Amino acid sequence: MFHHRELPLEERMELSYERLRHLNKHLLDGPHSPAAIAQDPSLLTALHEWAGPVDPGLSTILSIHYNLFLGTLTNAEDVHRHDLDPYLNLDRIGVFLCTELLHGNSVKELETRATYDRAAREYVLHTPRPGARKFMPNTSEVGGPKAALVAARLIIERDGRAQDEGVHLFLVPLHDPVSGETLEGITIERLPQTGSAAVDHCLTSFDNVRLPYEAMLQPSGGQRTADEITPHGLTPDGVYTNTFGGALKRFLDALARVTPGKLCMEAYHVGTMRHALTVAIRYAHIRHTFNGVRPGSVPLWHHRSHNASLLGALATGIGATLLHRHAVQTWEQAATEEERDIAERLAAITKSWITWRGREVMLECRERCGAQGLFLANGIVAQLQAGEGAITAEGDNAVISDIAGMELVMGHFERKELRPGPRDLETPESVQDLLGALARIWCDRASERLRPRHNTPRPGGLLNRTMLPARKLATTYADYLAAEGILTAAQQATDPEARRLLYLVHRLFALHRIDAQSGALQAKGYLEEDQVDMLHNLIEDVLDELAPHVLLLVNAQSVSETLLLSHPIMNTDPERRAQPALALTGPGFEGQAR
Ligand SMILES: Cc1cc2nc3c(=O)[nH]c(=O)nc-3n(C[C@H](O)[C@H](O)[C@H](O)COP(=O)(O)OP(=O)(O)OC[C@H]3O[C@@H](n4cnc5c(N)ncnc54)[C@H](O)[C@@H]3O)c2cc1C
Repeated sequence: MFHHRELPLEERMELSYERLRHLNKHLLDGPHSPAAIAQDPSLLTALHEWAGPVDPGLSTILSIHYNLFLGTLTNAEDVHRHDLDPYLNLDRIGVFLCTELLHGNSVKELETRATYDRAAREYVLHTPRPGARKFMPNTSEVGGPKAALVAARLIIERDGRAQDEGVHLFLVPLHDPVSGETLEGITIERLPQTGSAAVDHCLTSFDNVRLPYEAMLQPSGGQRTADEITPHGLTPDGVYTNTFGGALKRFLDALARVTPGKLCMEAYHVGTMRHALTVAIRYAHIRHTFNGVRPGSVPLWHHRSHNASLLGALATGIGATLLHRHAVQTWEQAATEEERDIAERLAAITKSWITWRGREVMLECRERCGAQGLFLANGIVAQLQAGEGAITAEGDNAVISDIAGMELVMGHFERKELRPGPRDLETPESVQDLLGALARIWCDRASERLRPRHNTPRPGGLLNRTMLPARKLATTYADYLAAEGILTAAQQATDPEARRLLYLVHRLFALHRIDAQSGALQAKGYLEEDQVDMLHNLIEDVLDELAPHVLLLVNAQSVSETLLLSHPIMNTDPERRAQPALALTGPGFEGQAR
């Protein structure tokens, strides 16, 4: 079952598609159909949490099929015009083509066009130049016949002139369903191999490909309710009615699934973080090393440098999981346009925070496992590399966190009134309050840079002047929310030991961040000099209390034991850790070579 990690690239990709079919069959037989999964953010993201540690390639292609493709199609206002069966049964795998070679983060400038031929009642889909080839989507024949949603500019002839009506989505079959060959007029070129998840990334172009009138999806308005829907779109005789909004609004509507996509990317990181933390922390208890100058050996966990970095990473991982839950719930519950704006901004903030923190946590876990951390069979290193894809896809982290940070500065950050004067560092509420103060400090710093200053050159304009503190605001705000999630979990825990440990996790998470920015807190009078001086001791005290109980916290993450046992590094017999095949021969692994 887990043998794939060391297979050649092509076989690994094939296997991921095979697993997608296997998963889809279970969905068809189970209580949640593929269409229901696509429309249920909790289920959809949970799928990523659990698939990520098993097979990052599977996590990528299922994200594209269920979220970007099926999610968009089933949300379209004219969904009834399309036969969904081939996509629900996976007779055709869905892909989503938006990014172009020359237009990545600047994708709203995309050039692919679909010109409406009124007489034939068809669109003519065309890639005007090589730079407009669709970049990255998994369009090759690997995995079976595919269909794409292609983002293209709708061009209509009006009064003898070509009118650009903005970006719309078109449903385009890519391969012959029987032979599997690429259809006429479509060119698919495989891109060079990435070091990220094993996926068949391609360049895709269209040479005057004819599509029927029904191919264009009518905008859905994102998650609009039925009474908000107004007539919009193109009639068969070529009359285009736009009651929906400007070009940017229509473009964003076409990409509406990018917000759940962000939640899916962070879910991948949440799942792989929990897995890596479990592996690294358990390994630290079974791997022995020398004991300073004393005779004999001790588990790695004995050493403060080792357990401190992993406990810090564990606190971040727990914070990430709870922050992710908060973001998913906020998105699910958003009913009005204002609430959806808030949920979208939150998803941008949490996606970038969780995936960036995920990279740090995974790197820490990899290193704490020594050379064992480098073996593909032990999972972590491949998940770490695949996590890079999630940092760039569904909204590049840097770009989305800068924009969200700017929006916070421009009035969307709730500035809670803070009591002036120093805080004590003892109670959970006061350390939480200090995290709130940090977000407030960065908001004030960004706002200050927004104000015009006389005689000061402003290279790049106001936006560039404000971007760095704005991103800091987004990050510190996410720190605050993640810590709040841990604090709430502690307050709600009914088991006294669980409550005690969660309070300690919250304390560790918060003190690390307060320590890192203690200068700013002191400058604003929230901390005194002697408090800054004692922070490192307070952190060590928490580490002392948490370290003996870490396995309880790690086991509570409920990572699949079957998956963990597939890693040679988890073998309690040290001599078998270098023989990956042996790890697959234990109880429960018979006949599971793949
Ligand atoms: C694993 C993976 C799967 C993908 N799958 C799909 C898919 O299914 N369909 C699809 O359409 N696309 C897909 N993509 C493409 C993805 O959407 C783009 O990679 C992404 O939009 C970034 O574009 P780019 O790679 O061209 O980077 P660029 O836009 O060239 O960015 C390069 C660098 O510049 C920075 N940058 C760019 N613009 C700005 C700015 N305005 N402000 C500050 N910094 C900036 C970025 O942060 C980055 O560091 C996928 C990508 C990956 C990695």
